[in-house]
Amino acid sequence: MPEAELPEVAALAQDLIRFDTTNHGGGRAAGEREAAEYVGAYLERLGLRPQFYEPIPRRTNVMARVPGRDGSKPALVLHGHLDVVPAIAEDWSVDPFAGVVKDGMLWGRGAVDMKDMDAMILASVADILRAGDQPERDLVLAFFADEENGGVEGSALVVENRPEWFEGATEAISEVGGYSIPLGERHAYLLQVGEKALVWIRLVARGRAAHGSSFHADNAVTRLAEAVAALGRTAWPVTLTETTREMTQRLAELTGRSPHDADAVAQAAGAASGFLRSTLRTTTNPTGLVAGYKHNVIPDRAEALIDVRVLPGTEQAALAEIARIVGDDVEVQVVHQDIGLEVPFAGDLVDAMVAALGRHDPDAPVVPYLMGGGTDNKALAALGIAGYGFAPLRLPSELDFTGMFHGVDERVPIDALTFGQAVLTDLLRTY
Ligand SMILES: [Zn+2]
Repeated sequence: MPEAELPEVAALAQDLIRFDTTNHGGGRAAGEREAAEYVGAYLERLGLRPQFYEPIPRRTNVMARVPGRDGSKPALVLHGHLDVVPAIAEDWSVDPFAGVVKDGMLWGRGAVDMKDMDAMILASVADILRAGDQPERDLVLAFFADEENGGVEGSALVVENRPEWFEGATEAISEVGGYSIPLGERHAYLLQVGEKALVWIRLVARGRAAHGSSFHADNAVTRLAEAVAALGRTAWPVTLTETTREMTQRLAELTGRSPHDADAVAQAAGAASGFLRSTLRTTTNPTGLVAGYKHNVIPDRAEALIDVRVLPGTEQAALAEIARIVGDDVEVQVVHQDIGLEVPFAGDLVDAMVAALGRHDPDAPVVPYLMGGGTDNKALAALGIAGYGFAPLRLPSELDFTGMFHGVDERVPIDALTFGQAVLTDLLRTY
């Protein structure tokens, strides 16, 4: 498809991908200001008045309010993040920041997470305003920095210092939900109604430093390795929440599987099954090791990083179990913690999202799910805003969409973007 013929929503996503907004974590990031200024300029061309907030230089957040027809209804937040995780160009089959269009798809870092949705939000609001219309209710359009580092220099500071941006808002829509998954011959949409909680821990094992040639039992590396292996291999039991119970029930009905084996039911979702299975239990994945400084020196200390994701409300129980698994000789330090969320798969907004999908893809079922990762919805929850993941995309069954979050060769079909824009436009006109 020649670039001149790209639909606007795809051209917007392409422009956003071309801003390299890589977030390396720990406050090291680039390009967010330029991307936010681009978004602000677009909002201005729609006749809106964007406001910028840069709590830390170059970590730019931008917001605009769109007045709705019915001022008595609470406002709805539509939000996205403008940063992306790093991309190692050699691993990709295209330049990750070129916004290449190939095989009917837009390729690049952020094509899936989440410049696709950023563009869909902008294009759907444009659809409504250019037609001389208004959305049904007030909209708060917010684009954040630093989401890929837990939002500590983005949404967390916006919520703390600019709460007035969200005045009157009770609900929010953002990423990692609303996409289709294959279920045998048919497909279904996953609507995200919750997020697991996050507990990043460090394991510290201590021992006695000694010569590498010595007969020596007090070895910190050995002690740590045993704890890491025990935790990494732990098969955490399936624990269903309201959401995952309903997900399991619905997927079982749709696939003819027994609802009593939630793992087996989740496996019906093909490539998305890993995503779903992680939400049925706690996960404790070792992600980093630090020990030693010389081949012939036994160090007196060894450390491991474990990414712990637990079901909302089970943080303390999980930490107690982790302490038991690693044993008394290994210290467990909590490095960073964030809340879990779970909102009902019911109510007017859920009905409206399901109905909007149904008008554009009749008869495709919508299934609630919990998400293993986190989004800026966690920060907005502090303002009492109930957040959903609804970035509607109708995807070809062979595309491993969930595998592309933070993966290589991120790409999104152009027609999925125009589908999502149409569904969102429909939702905003009617809800
Ligand atoms: Zn994201």
